[in-house]
Amino acid sequence: GPALLFVKTSQGKEEGRRFYACSACRDRKDCNFFQWEDEKVSETRLAAREEYNRNHQPFFTHRQNVDRYKNFVLLPLSKRRFCQECQQLLLPAEWEKHANHQFLCDITTAQLKSPSQLLYPLENKKTNAQYLFADRSCQFLLNLLIDLGFRRVLSVGTPRLHEMIQSKASQEEEFNVRSLLLDIDFRYSQFYTEDEFCHYNMFNHHFFGGEAARETCRKFLYEENGERVIIVTDPPFGGLVEALASSFKKLMAMWRETEKEGHDNRELPMFWIFPYFFESRILDFFPSFSMMDYQVDYDNHALYKHGKTGRRQSPVRIFTNLTPSMIVLPEEEGYRFCTVCQRYVSSDNQHCEICNSCTSKDGRRWKHCVLCKKCVKPSWFHCNNCNCCTLQKHSCEKNDIGCFVCGKAGHKRSACPSLS
Ligand code: SAH
Ligand code: ZN
Ligand code: ZN
Ligand code: ZN
Ligand code: ZN
Repeated sequence: GPALLFVKTSQGKEEGRRFYACSACRDRKDCNFFQWEDEKVSETRLAAREEYNRNHQPFFTHRQNVDRYKNFVLLPLSKRRFCQECQQLLLPAEWEKHANHQFLCDITTAQLKSPSQLLYPLENKKTNAQYLFADRSCQFLLNLLIDLGFRRVLSVGTPRLHEMIQSKASQEEEFNVRSLLLDIDFRYSQFYTEDEFCHYNMFNHHFFGGEAARETCRKFLYEENGERVIIVTDPPFGGLVEALASSFKKLMAMWRETEKEGHDNRELPMFWIFPYFFESRILDFFPSFSMMDYQVDYDNHALYKHGKTGRRQSPVRIFTNLTPSMIVLPEEEGYRFCTVCQRYVSSDNQHCEICNSCTSKDGRRWKHCVLCKKCVKPSWFHCNNCNCCTLQKHSCEKNDIGCFVCGKAGHKRSACPSLS
């Protein structure tokens, strides 16, 4: 889909030079598209680009994959193979072509219903960054959505949540929640129909399936018979918040337009799952959002495991435009309700009388600094040189422009320690 317009700034200079680059790949190694805004592109280069794009299309279309799936499920277990190298379900006629590849046999219906377990996670940090919810977190999210009365979930980059909903819907008769997955990972088109999955780029709101896919999404957002809908998204953490926010606003607008009478100024409910250190960035774009204390855990991320069982606490939180008091967090996992703040908080998150709020962001108990007039991390000290609280080990230098991710000086977003 369309590139994004960036600006290269160098320190001291007022204006930077603007250029287009790939919206989805933040690493030039993954996609080297680059064009100055004012650059003239020759016919030859244009033709070469088009040629390149044609050669990099997925081998099968979504439609073809849906047909292949229908044939695949008709096969006896002994003939159901999945090529691990090509990440593809194989039909018997194709076995020979993949003879030298590693493959799995006897693919069961249960396996087909949990593609996120079958496919290997694309962990490439800068592009896909596929970190899958731990079962506990996924279950928690789903129960929360059900308790809140939602019947439809637009799963944007949350394949595991989508899969949990889909598989419950096919197994339990009284389960009446539906989900539509929007994701850039086209491998999922092998397992879901066009009504269940749209190949989508959340950095530029691009539907690869064109108008038909856009219409699928629009229809899904239309709240028939009072069935309420919510967006749940868990974007790659290296992603540009402004690009994501702009896409989410477009999805919200799509929802608003489905209702002729309008939604009485309501906003489409949303859960945006993202690390806590992005709080101020998210609130810049969505002032109606607040951050919940719930720590979202992941399966394939050693660091992002729950404090009680994993090695470290997860920095990932839920940002939502729903009323915080409605988001009930489990007591057995160490959350309590603060009656003053009217929201659930981590048990170690103490209500500060001076700030008049439960101020901890990372789940640890924070302390109030009278000089800074705010609560700070327990490991910080007030430095009289810098005139603010910071790590004890730091060099008292003039602040240069802070990192776009964590706001701290001394490094750029690409080298932000919060992301690694
Ligand atoms: N925790 C979620 C997965 C989050 S990982 C779960 O368990 O369901 C981030 C997801 O966003 C991945 O599924 C990845 O494929 C998708 N993604 C990455 N870049 C994207 C983009 N540009 N547009 C849409 N989806 C993207
Ligand atoms: Zn293969
Ligand atoms: Zn409080
Ligand atoms: Zn305080
Ligand atoms: Zn201080």
